[in-house]
Amino acid sequence: MGQPIEAASDLSSTVSVLVDDAAGLSIDFTLDGIQFTAADQKSGANLKSVSQAVDGKLIHVFVWKSPSVKIARYDNGPNQFVVPRSLQTGGDLLKFVDLMVHEAVHAAFDLQKQHVLKVLDESFAYVTQFLYRRLKSGKGNPPPNDKVLMAADKVADYIIGQSQGSGTVVVPDTILNPLKEAIKKDGMYKDWATEITYDGAEAKPPAGEVGHPKRKPDSKALKHGPVSGSHASRFRTPGTYGIG
Ligand SMILES: [Zn+2]
Repeated sequence: MGQPIEAASDLSSTVSVLVDDAAGLSIDFTLDGIQFTAADQKSGANLKSVSQAVDGKLIHVFVWKSPSVKIARYDNGPNQFVVPRSLQTGGDLLKFVDLMVHEAVHAAFDLQKQHVLKVLDESFAYVTQFLYRRLKSGKGNPPPNDKVLMAADKVADYIIGQSQGSGTVVVPDTILNPLKEAIKKDGMYKDWATEITYDGAEAKPPAGEVGHPKRKPDSKALKHGPVSGSHASRFRTPGTYGIG
């Protein structure tokens, strides 16, 4: 995680457009009593608020200094996306979009100052990523050897099957649990039981190195997640978390 990054404000409009595209889709689902939507419903985490926060410079865009780093992540503290440098030339853009959607879910929870168990935060991000894939292309196409992505695609399939065009789709435990179990068993989410205390994205100066990487759809190199806490303290008063 020691990879150096640098500001890339020239990419802000690219990121905003990508997220805004996803924000126009019909995405509205509830996991464990927490609702997530594409459009801004004026309450709750949503993708639209993320594109607006990028446009409003509350969320910043950085790139990895090294062009060989292809991962993306969202950093809670400094409110920043860190994305591959290749996006500056338009390279890898299409391959990257659903990953950007995944990261935008974390950003959306940050805007809401959501307290959420990491396994659930990642569940939201992966499900939204695969809803995006299915709604855009009709297919999720998860790699068969990746249990997390396979399970996320199944949840997305369920949500699309249940969607009546209005109202949130409440995903039952029987559908959600296989995804949670896959995340818990994945070596990159050993800290699945930590509570993430998203701290909001009011105007704060951008900072450098913080956070954790996540994987791209077909690579183990691309997972990530924030930090700290326990299930019991899930709805305690807001605060910040640090990343070591
Ligand atoms: Zn994630």
